[in-house]
Amino acid sequence: MSNIYDVIIIGAGSVGIPIAMELAYSNKKILVLDREASPGQGSNKSAIGGIRATHTDPGKIFLSQESLEIFSTWQQKNGDDIEWYRGGYTFLAYTEAIKQTLLATLDIQKKSGARIDWLEADSLRERIPCLNDQQLLGGTWSPDDGSASPLRASLAFYRKACEAGAIFHFHEPVIAIEHKGGHVTGVVTEKTRYHCNYLVNCAGAWSNQIASLTNSELPVRPNAHEAGVTEPIAHFIDPMIVDMRGFADTANFYFYQHKTGQIIFCTTPSDDVWGYDTHETSTFLPVAAQRLLSILPSLDSVKVRRTWRGLYPMTPDGLPLIGWDRQVEGLFIAAGMCGQGFMLGPGVGRLVSRILDGKTTPTDQFILDSHSPYRDFSTTETLK
Ligand SMILES: Cc1cc2nc3c(=O)[nH]c(=O)nc-3n(C[C@H](O)[C@H](O)[C@H](O)COP(=O)(O)OP(=O)(O)OC[C@H]3O[C@@H](n4cnc5c(N)ncnc54)[C@H](O)[C@@H]3O)c2cc1C
Repeated sequence: MSNIYDVIIIGAGSVGIPIAMELAYSNKKILVLDREASPGQGSNKSAIGGIRATHTDPGKIFLSQESLEIFSTWQQKNGDDIEWYRGGYTFLAYTEAIKQTLLATLDIQKKSGARIDWLEADSLRERIPCLNDQQLLGGTWSPDDGSASPLRASLAFYRKACEAGAIFHFHEPVIAIEHKGGHVTGVVTEKTRYHCNYLVNCAGAWSNQIASLTNSELPVRPNAHEAGVTEPIAHFIDPMIVDMRGFADTANFYFYQHKTGQIIFCTTPSDDVWGYDTHETSTFLPVAAQRLLSILPSLDSVKVRRTWRGLYPMTPDGLPLIGWDRQVEGLFIAAGMCGQGFMLGPGVGRLVSRILDGKTTPTDQFILDSHSPYRDFSTTETLK
């Protein structure tokens, strides 16, 4: 029967597409279902493209290191340009409290194999010309981190997945999950019914809706964040710059210069903005512009082309949910990627492939333990 698959993946996004690619490489019959018209049209297209291994959770560091290896070698191995650029990341400290927070994270990052150091203000200014160093105490510097285009990357992974035999159906929302004797047997969409041995919930900010189809619940909620992009200018800054000072209803502010010249920027609201509303606000740009100019005053004549608002699939502690569902056998959860689903996606893809092939490593087991959907959520990641 043509409607029988080894694995069905719900969601052709930052995570579902690389999982499909890796599973298709290992000769599994894969179907990916998405309600949108084309790949990467959920939160994936809202991401600004930052890719870092410098987290404070070792499991997330290990996943991102595998992702970085895939992003950074993609063009060389596969030919297509995903606009990867190894510009590094820097978290700036303008206050003693932020400096101490950042210094406290270095140890865990170094022990997990991430290359990162503390730089004093003078050294940072040498690397970032025009940096406003008034009151700057220094910052972290992680040269292996970088950026790529989420749309180009998801399209490149999608093409590879298709070449390897994965089948994608768009405009096809999943409306029911079928199971028998406690084991998943398939899904029902608005068009038809499909059968499978394994089902993966990669529905991002909508993953709790998918969980409700088996009468269970996932602690993933849609959390709105806004971003913007300028006109392209000559290349002059390398790293993603993160400013953790709060200002006018915003907590973190981060930005970088994309490989093609545009400055892309984003804020973290100081209070969570829950819900599925993705209409951009009129308050974002005035605040983001002030924050950008407080760090790089020389950008004052650069024009902003557009802003947008998208959804973080947020968990209570800022870490993803990765693991088997305990109620329905054969249902795997890869959701709740928060603000890092683009950078985690390829690493999660490889991990899921090793799990289904029975080839997990001790590091994989560590990731699965720390990212279990059933953990107690009692701690929070510092650099989430
Ligand atoms: C402004 C902003 C900036 C960001 N910047 C970064 C960044 O720099 N780096 C980074 O790593 N991350 C970033 N992120 C976060 C990143 O976008 C998300 O973590 C990531 O896209 C989540 O991936 P996902 O595959 O889980 O979800 P998605 O990419 O949203 O994919 C889920 C898919 O599931 C589909 N779906 C939902 N319900 C159904 C259904 N019933 N049936 C079929 N399909 C369904 C959706 O249509 C969607 O395509 C940013 C996010 C925002 C909003």
